[in-house]
Parts: sequence; C-alpha cells; structure tokens
Amino acid sequence: LAPSPVLGLDSSKVQIEQTSNPRTRPPSESLIFGQSFSDHMLVVPWSSQTGWDTPKIQPYAPLTLDPSSVIFHYAPSLFEGMKAYKDKDGKCRLFRPDMNMRRMNTSADRLALPTFDGGELTQLIRKLVSIDSTWVPNEPGHSMYIRPTLIGTQAALGVNQTSDALLFVITSPVGPYYKTGFKPVSLSADPSQVRAWPGGVGQYKLGANYAPGIKPQMQAATKGYHQNLWLFGDEAWLTEVGTMNLFVVVKGQDGVTELVTPPLNGMILPGVTRDSILSLARGHASGSAPIAGLPKQLRVVEREMNMAEVMAHSDRGSLLEMFGAGTAAVVSPVERVGYKGRDIMIPTGEGGAGNVAKAMLGEIDAIQRGERASHPWSVLV
Ligand code: PMP
Repeated sequence: LAPSPVLGLDSSKVQIEQTSNPRTRPPSESLIFGQSFSDHMLVVPWSSQTGWDTPKIQPYAPLTLDPSSVIFHYAPSLFEGMKAYKDKDGKCRLFRPDMNMRRMNTSADRLALPTFDGGELTQLIRKLVSIDSTWVPNEPGHSMYIRPTLIGTQAALGVNQTSDALLFVITSPVGPYYKTGFKPVSLSADPSQVRAWPGGVGQYKLGANYAPGIKPQMQAATKGYHQNLWLFGDEAWLTEVGTMNLFVVVKGQDGVTELVTPPLNGMILPGVTRDSILSLARGHASGSAPIAGLPKQLRVVEREMNMAEVMAHSDRGSLLEMFGAGTAAVVSPVERVGYKGRDIMIPTGEGGAGNVAKAMLGEIDAIQRGERASHPWSVLV
C-alpha cells in the first residue's frame, strides 16, 4: 500500500456549520475577561498518518477526549492570545496576526506538536471572526480576545511524540482594561520564585508555564502586591512581570531618557506588544516616525537590568517609569516594587501612567483601531 499523503493545513477546505441556537452577546458594560464566548469555534484535528484534517467552524461546544489523552498527563499544550478590534466603519481588524502565528509554530515545534502554515490559520481566524463579528464590541477600549490552542490528544499513556493533536480557536468579547484611567500595579520581587531559566521553556507560550505561576501570584497577593516581578539568578536580573513583558524608563548618566527591556535571552516570551513598543520607540528615536508625548531624545535598548540597578536609579531619582506590556492591557504601569523588605516607589505620572507608557498605549490603540491609514500591522478581517 502506498502511504497516504500527509496534508497541510488548508483554509480553502473549511466547512461551516452555523449554530441553530444563536445566543445574545452580554451587554458590553458587563463583560468580564474570558467569561463569555462567541457562538462558534474553529476545530482542526491532526494525525501523524494523514496530517491536518478538514478545518471546521462549528457551534461552540465542549470537547470530548479520552481520559488517557496525553494532554491530561504530560501537558502537551500551547496557546496564543490576540484580539479583533472594530474600526470606526464597523469593520473588524486583527493586529499583527503573523507574529502570533510565528510564535505558535515556535511553541508547537518545541513540544513536538505539529506545525502549520500560519497564513492558513490566519485565514481561518478571519473567517471565524467574520462569522461572529456581532460578538466584537465596538465601544472604545473593547475588543474580542482570540485564543488559538493546540493540544496533544493521543489516547495512550507514555511520554512520546503524540500521534494525534487538536487545534482549536475560541473567541471571547472583552471590555476595556482601564475603565476609569490607569490603575498602576504593585509587584512583589521575590528572588525565590523563578518563572524561567536559561535552557528552559520561558520563551514559549506553553500552558505548562502558567499553572506554576498561580501560587506565587497568590503569595504576592497575601503580601499586598498585585503581581510578581519575576527575577532570575543571584544578581536578581529582571525578566517579566506577571504575564507581561517588562519595560523600565531611566535617565542615563548623560541625561538621556533610556527605554530598557530585557533581551530575548531564552527566559522572555517574545511579546507582540514588546516588539511593537520597541519598533515604535525606535522609529521615534531615529526621527523617522515621531510620536507625540515621547521625549525628543530617547535611547531604546534591549539589555539586562538587575535589582541593584533599579535601586540605584531609585536612590538617584533617575527611575522614571516601569510598565508591563501585553495584549490584554497594552501597557500596565507599575507604582511599587517590594524587594528584600524594601518598597521601591516608581513615579506613575499624571493620570496614573508615565509619558512613555501613555504615548505607547495611544499609538498602539490607534493602529489597532485602524486610525493610522493602511498601517501594515492592522489587518482587515
Ligand atoms: N509574557 C508572558 C509570560 C505572557 O503570557 C504574555 C502574554 N502573551 C506576554 C509576555 C505579552 O505578550 P503579547 O504582547 O504577545 O501579548
């Protein structure tokens, strides 16, 4: 017998089953992140024998999996987080979906799960969003969160490459992260809590990276902090904050404002927001694409920073801003860091955010909502 052909992911084959039971989207003002889901989902099974199966957009419903499925035992699971936004003409837009597709394939490769053509999955996501476009709220700050997920589903115990997998995408309408102005957060920097390490998997978006972060987050909360500032090593290198990338703004020895974020050293998730902020800030700094609100002279650097440097800047008065960056909030200003019994206070500026954080939120939000004419990062659905 000739081997059966192994098929690639093919969006043109999509089969669509409309729900016979459409629900009404909860009112925009009552939306809570990740609590309600739109009417349809995308499902694509994969097997090592035949490759990617026919993609199906079908009514949102529970999955049925064998209890021996590897996902429940060895956690072959990865996901993405992206959003659809409504522009002023009522059209839906995605933000840099190619970045999410690339990161998802990187995660899949690390877990020995099947990779796929990212352009094909983007096409399928566009179809899913257009079918559920009434679920995308159009009020300012609202959007529809998109959660592509890939899991190993082989029904057999044993730590091996899975012979079966399931790719699915669900979507969830979400309200604004900041309902009334910025809400700066406080961070617990506890060197005994480590999220990622050299040679580990911190740079991939694996489900297994998140469950171990829940208890440290609860411990931070009992001490009166919102989130963890994840440190690494004896030198207390700063890595990430909660589930966001980290940016610090300091005044350099030469008086120039410096925007610093840790380099992609294997312990940092390569965030889409992180990349966008770096790119916009570099465009501003070079003079090619100035952004209102940013200091004229700005040095943009990917480099390591440790707690000793943060404390030195704080003592000198040259610690200007600190913020997290991610899809959920775009930016999340930090007002306080607890470290070794000391609380380091960080200026948060007028309205709860510093100039750099504010300017970045304004610019990225405008691009996401299609207010920067034909910007390549904003993709019509
Ligand atoms: N770091 C971690 C650990 C995250 O979970 C996220 C959210 N995906 C980010 C950073 C920010 O990434 P993005 O800007 O792509 O949302």
